[in-house]
Amino acid sequence: MDKDLENLKELSQEKLAENKKYFQKLKKRTPKRLDLVMQELHDEEFERTDCLNCGNCCKTTSPMFSYKDIERIAKHLKMKVPDFVAQYLRIDEDDFHVLQTSPCPFLDLNDNTCFIYDVRPKACAEYPHTNRKKFIQLTNLTIKNTEICPATYRIVEELKKKLPIS
Ligand code: SF4
Ligand code: SF4
Repeated sequence: MDKDLENLKELSQEKLAENKKYFQKLKKRTPKRLDLVMQELHDEEFERTDCLNCGNCCKTTSPMFSYKDIERIAKHLKMKVPDFVAQYLRIDEDDFHVLQTSPCPFLDLNDNTCFIYDVRPKACAEYPHTNRKKFIQLTNLTIKNTEICPATYRIVEELKKKLPIS
């Protein structure tokens, strides 16, 4: 298991106020090189982190499924789109298609692999979004993800060291 996963709720709660304050200040004075720094921190973190030792995102949250995702996955499963939607998805409070149940039904709980890896939703492929362009627009989501994803928690800790804000 990932070394921080067991205590992640406590760890992220301890840092919640500090992280909120940090990102508020970062939004006011966003360094031009922020996306570059995030890309480096993301790459360094995921060189060390093996998601197959964790799987917490797939166990506890749902990705959003775009219509393209739904069509692609239904085709892969040889299902009709309405049948796929009825069997696996629901509409959330923001009007997005999300999973009905967690852990994700496509997660193999024996080894944390994904049964539909090659056709998985775009949101899964991009999770935890720490190397996305215009990262500054994703700071609230990133703070939320520090409670779910130990890699995100560590990336944020490294970011505060790399780009300290007084
Ligand atoms: S579709 Fe695959 S990658 Fe996405 S949440 Fe489910 S198991 Fe995880
Ligand atoms: S992305 Fe984060 S939460 Fe998901 S498996 Fe990897 S380390 Fe765990």
